[in-house]
Amino acid sequence: MREAIIERAQSVPAANLKKIWSAEEVLQLFDLPMPELMYQAQTVAREFHPTGTMQLSTLLNIKDGGCPEDCHYCPQAARYHTGVKAKKLLSVEVVREQVAAAKEAGATRFCMGAAWRELKDRDVPAISALIKEVTSQGLESCVTLGMVSETQASALKEAGLEYYNHNIDTSPGYYEKIITTRTQDDRLETLQNVRDAGIKVCSGGIVGMGEQREDRAGMLLTLANLDPQPESVPINRLVPVPGTPLENAEVIDPFELVRTIAVARIMFPHARIRLSAGRTSMSDELQAMCILAGVNSIHYGAKLLMTANPEAEKDRALLQRLGINVEVSTKAEVSCHQ
Ligand code: SF4
Repeated sequence: MREAIIERAQSVPAANLKKIWSAEEVLQLFDLPMPELMYQAQTVAREFHPTGTMQLSTLLNIKDGGCPEDCHYCPQAARYHTGVKAKKLLSVEVVREQVAAAKEAGATRFCMGAAWRELKDRDVPAISALIKEVTSQGLESCVTLGMVSETQASALKEAGLEYYNHNIDTSPGYYEKIITTRTQDDRLETLQNVRDAGIKVCSGGIVGMGEQREDRAGMLLTLANLDPQPESVPINRLVPVPGTPLENAEVIDPFELVRTIAVARIMFPHARIRLSAGRTSMSDELQAMCILAGVNSIHYGAKLLMTANPEAEKDRALLQRLGINVEVSTKAEVSCHQ
């Protein structure tokens, strides 16, 4: 059995992936008895990743609120009354301090998010300066800025960007129930632009938005059949924010969250599976199950864009109790060229 699982996972190369997953196969994984599913996920995790290590990423909102999109889960959409005020892009000086603090706290990747529908050409120089600030302090850089064109993606790569985050959120079929102001194909086009520019792709979705298991499977299927697959796959549990259309969404069964993560672990053997938003409302035991299912990256720090995140000390204590080592950055610090 172990050999068969490994053989299947090894058939998923990091690049030049041929489409190998069908919807039926993904749903069969979801349907496995939990012990079997966890065993398969752990088998893949142990083959492709160091056992018992966790990558810590810090996420900083560099431009709050005022977004024209209508993502039903998002407190930064200008049309929802969530109390989030639109602010200007943070300065290099402010970001410099935040990067230093994140590094001091043990993060190896620094992600910056701006509440934009798309990156505007006029903002590319300012964003490039922020990327250079992150890399100059020796952290991996990641940004999430909405849609980007081919030319913009090349400029970000030129500035030293390593990862671009752009989630597809849910299945193609459920997508229009969650966002109407842009299509999932728009999002996939941005992922392609980023990939073509030589930037690594971070893309996942959100569970607990009223979708069915078929939608969770469909989201993973869409991403898994990208060629190559994303290097990072964040799985978020919806944080229902008052004032958004999903404020009263029913909380997803915790075991279904764990199943989604385990299936993702199996389908994306090379990727980081990141447990992202929603951890504050999870028990230590549920987070531990998510880690056993294959999570090997978490967002770290007191705030996650607009939603709360467990305090850094609490995370460290949990990882220590589980005997999980924090991944240490192997990047050398480089001088800032600004
Ligand atoms: S998720 Fe992003 S694109 Fe959607 S409303 Fe929020 S900030 Fe805008």
